[in-house]
Amino acid sequence: MKRIAPLLLSLAVVGSQSLAAGEAKNIDAPVEAPVPPKLIGYFDSEFIPGQTKWRVHDAYRPAPRIITPGTASTPKRPGQPPSDAIVLFDGSDLSGWSGGGDKPAQWKVENGYMEVNGSGSIRSKEAFGSCQLHVEWAAPTVVKGDSQARGNSGVIIMGLYEIQVLDSFNNRTYSDGQASAVYGQYPPLVNASRAPGQWQTFDIIFEAPKYDGDKVVKPGYVTVLHNGVLVHHRRKILGRVAHKFAAKYAPHADKLPLMLQDHGNPVRYRNIWFRPLGE
Ligand code: MG
Repeated sequence: MKRIAPLLLSLAVVGSQSLAAGEAKNIDAPVEAPVPPKLIGYFDSEFIPGQTKWRVHDAYRPAPRIITPGTASTPKRPGQPPSDAIVLFDGSDLSGWSGGGDKPAQWKVENGYMEVNGSGSIRSKEAFGSCQLHVEWAAPTVVKGDSQARGNSGVIIMGLYEIQVLDSFNNRTYSDGQASAVYGQYPPLVNASRAPGQWQTFDIIFEAPKYDGDKVVKPGYVTVLHNGVLVHHRRKILGRVAHKFAAKYAPHADKLPLMLQDHGNPVRYRNIWFRPLGE
């Protein structure tokens, strides 16, 4: 018995460290099951409704993976992506991108950004579906054209679902086609546009649609923050992007490249990364 005593004592210490004030009443009796000393939490609490495997504060629930968060961008310098992000463009070159017909992407790259130059839309070599996606863009400083002809480009997720890029600073267009609209489907909740030439951010949570053969069994959903402001809160995507037609779904692969649109205006991009979404 003497030899066991220190072990019991150490368990008691670990147990008491894991309890916040006021929580002790949830434990009615000492835990009798063999408990590895570093487990922190509870073994006898109720199961969480809808989560058949886990109890409330379950000591066996695995700890989330540790990552290093990124840093915010400034007008002059892009921030650092989170440590587990897949970087699609870091400002140095277009090696991660293809142009039309799988030729190398031809957009201009200088000073840490890429710029649309009329050579056609580009696609990431990386294919992905559900994700957290970060994109920074700037409309041309020289203001030219109006409505859809001013600073038009597009972040087209999976090459099919477009979040509109447009200079919407003092530039009226149809509402479901302004900056950060789900093009042709939903205007943003507010117009959070910055002036032309200033760097703007999209932070997008995209849930890819799911198909069973030709049938959509789960539509896509998208949440968008434009310059840190919520502009879409889990919008149900109605189908592939279309101009002047109602969007419709058509089956596609689970993972597809990201497309950046060349709409003939010299829009700039920098600091593009994504993180695949787990279930
Ligand atoms: Mg566009």
